[in-house]
Amino acid sequence: MPKKEPLTFAINWNACIHCGACVAVCPLEAGFISPFDTIAVGETCHIACMACEKICPVSAIIPQPAEASI
Ligand code: SF4
Ligand code: SF4
Repeated sequence: MPKKEPLTFAINWNACIHCGACVAVCPLEAGFISPFDTIAVGETCHIACMACEKICPVSAIIPQPAEASI
C-alpha cells in the first residue's frame, strides 16, 4: 500500500455538533483530541485513514495536506 500523505484538519465550527463521533472512530484516540470533543485541529495526522471525515454527520471536518499548515 502506498504511504499516505500526512494531513492536518480544520473543523467547521458552525457545523460541528460536538457529537464525538470523529474522536470515537479515530485510532489516535486521546492523543489527538481538541478541547471541543473533536479530533485535533492543526496537528499532523500520519495515519490519514479518513475515518473521521467519513463518519462526521455534518461534514464539518476539512482535511488539508500537512505542509499547507506549516
Ligand atoms: S484520518 Fe484517521 S487517524 Fe487521522 S485523525 Fe482522522 S480518524 Fe484519526
Ligand atoms: S464527528 Fe463532526 S460533528 Fe461530530 S464532533 Fe466530530 S467534527 Fe463535530
